[in-house]
Amino acid sequence: MASVAHNSQPFGPSDRLYATIGDFLADHRLSVDPVNYAFAHRVIAHPTGPLAQCVARITDGGVRLTSRDIEELGGPVPVAGATVDREQPPGRDTPPASPNEMMQALVARTQMQVEDFADTVAAMRVETQGFGRDLLAGADAIRGSSGTAVADIARLADTMLGRVQVAEERLAAATVEAEALRRELEAARDDARRDPLTGLANRRAFEHAFTAASEANAPICVALCDIDHFKAVNDRFGHAVGDRVLKVIAGALSEACGDHLVARYGGEEFAILFTGTALADAVATLDSARGMVAGKRYRLRETDAPLGTVTFSGGVSAHEAGEVMGSVLGRADRLLYAAKAAGRNSVQSDGKIRQG
Ligand code: GH3
Ligand code: MG
Ligand code: MG
Repeated sequence: MASVAHNSQPFGPSDRLYATIGDFLADHRLSVDPVNYAFAHRVIAHPTGPLAQCVARITDGGVRLTSRDIEELGGPVPVAGATVDREQPPGRDTPPASPNEMMQALVARTQMQVEDFADTVAAMRVETQGFGRDLLAGADAIRGSSGTAVADIARLADTMLGRVQVAEERLAAATVEAEALRRELEAARDDARRDPLTGLANRRAFEHAFTAASEANAPICVALCDIDHFKAVNDRFGHAVGDRVLKVIAGALSEACGDHLVARYGGEEFAILFTGTALADAVATLDSARGMVAGKRYRLRETDAPLGTVTFSGGVSAHEAGEVMGSVLGRADRLLYAAKAAGRNSVQSDGKIRQG
């Protein structure tokens, strides 16, 4: 058992790894040089990987590894992400239940990949140093005009070229994996900011967009809309039909508001962030959406039975320089409830009412 130096810190996972690498090198009577250390690290850090399995086969029955074994095995190392036998993070085979868990799994995978990159680069550095040493020795031998030196140098150069090619393939595969992870992270981030029922931005995304627009000093108007008597829709036709109505209203608002951000802010409440738009234009846009929704006669898809009209009320307020989001939203909310009190199916803005 090799004695392993460590400081007075608690004995953590990296100390254990260091100690196990020390044991491995001592068991095989291998010197603690960078090549042997990197090799042992790869075997021990990936105990179920192909390299560890190969070492287990060679050393079965107590046979010791030689430097030559290490040189021969030191080439192909498991590719980051392409390994099939690497221990998987929990939930990798079965999709995690929540976006948060999915995000955590992706972060764990990304972290693993970064570690593999670091391993790959460290291993390449060690190999390059080893080859540099050998090539220098070969060059010295040539200067001493040994007959076999040129052949040795050629063999070393061939081996090195082979290893460089393998390293390039590993890096290419890791790059493909990194790109796939980047896309998955983007999709997960997008999911975390989207309302799953309507596909609209959620409250969190709205808040981010508001902060970004106010930091950019863009003129902002905020609208809050709430479906009128929506409880009655659920009561009469059921929750599933209510959900479909929510989707229809979400679609109508998105269509009418163009590039402005429409978010599902709560159950049957929507918020719209108008940027670079004067209050009068924001009100006109929302009022045209209101008219469009109120003018439709909705029917049940299955039976064609009439659902009647669906309307919403809205409040629109202009953001003032330096004002916090809660303040302008509070004003829009009060305007919304003024619109409800005034008979619903209407839009109210800083003192003005538009009635359908
Ligand atoms: P008001 O005109 O005053 O806004 O009346 P309302 O009935 O729309 O308001 P109320 O707050 O009494 O009821 C809101 C209803 O919206 C109750 C709730 O079940 C329903 N709701 C909230 N979220 C959802 C959802 O995701 N799907 C469905 N189907 N219904 C929802
Ligand atoms: Mg409501
Ligand atoms: Mg309502």
